[in-house]
Amino acid sequence: MRLKDKAALVTGAGSGIGYQTALRFAREGASIVAVDINEEGGLQCAADIRQRDGAATFVHADVSRAADCEKMVAAAEATYGKLDILFNNAGISHADDDDAINTSEAVWDMTMAVNVKGVFLGCKFGIPALQRAGGGSIINTASFVAVLGAATPQLAYTASKGAVLSMTRELAMIHARENIRVNALCPGPLRTELLMKYLDTDDKKQRRLVHIPMGRFGEATEIADAVLFLASDESSFVTGSAFMVDGGITAAYVTPE
Ligand code: NAD
Repeated sequence: MRLKDKAALVTGAGSGIGYQTALRFAREGASIVAVDINEEGGLQCAADIRQRDGAATFVHADVSRAADCEKMVAAAEATYGKLDILFNNAGISHADDDDAINTSEAVWDMTMAVNVKGVFLGCKFGIPALQRAGGGSIINTASFVAVLGAATPQLAYTASKGAVLSMTRELAMIHARENIRVNALCPGPLRTELLMKYLDTDDKKQRRLVHIPMGRFGEATEIADAVLFLASDESSFVTGSAFMVDGGITAAYVTPE
């Protein structure tokens, strides 16, 4: 078991990447705090883990609220005695996110509150817990759009993921000598609800698919396997990375620095 005796907190565990990663972590022996604003999905995640003889508890929390983030970390320490792995994964992609002219201030603020402030608050309360545990691994979900522009505009989302990537790099530097590793996960386009809701016509799907060398969307389970590597001690010399799991999309388009 690759996460034996570890306690892991997963935000956005009610769906997609978070759900699959929570299950994957549990299969490798970790005890899980499943966090979501979606009560039904989060409870389901915890129940599915327990049904497979794993340990899991659900905490209802909105990652854009400090009090909620403090509560979710406290729940991890109260339930399992410590926190070793923090997966700041909850994120939104608003249907009305567009270009600079057409994106409203409200959509911009909402996207930043969840995608950027949510990661900051997770770290604000999570890092002291990892310090108390003697170290650990933080994985922040960014996106391939943090390193290249997407053909269909979603300006607030893209800017938010760029912020997650640079915040991750700085956190990795700050805590490198404390046995705390911090990596940004950069998934490519996935066949999850978040993206399929946004690419809601065949035409939009094809516009995105044409840019993916593998010619298909990724699966949340494929991302979960990558997160498992970053969470486990197998990645003990990996910190500050922009970990691309994208079917080759960035290799095709990003020019070397
Ligand atoms: P998803 O919509 O399937 O799951 C996201 C989960 O986050 C949901 O259960 C939702 O209820 C929860 N959530 C939303 N706002 C929250 C809040 N304020 N507090 C707590 N929980 C909240 O999406 P997904 O595809 O699994 O995405 C997970 C992460 O991966 C996001 O950060 C997303 O931006 C990123 N990502 C997704 C893709 C993709 O193609 N799907 C690609 C790159 C990055």
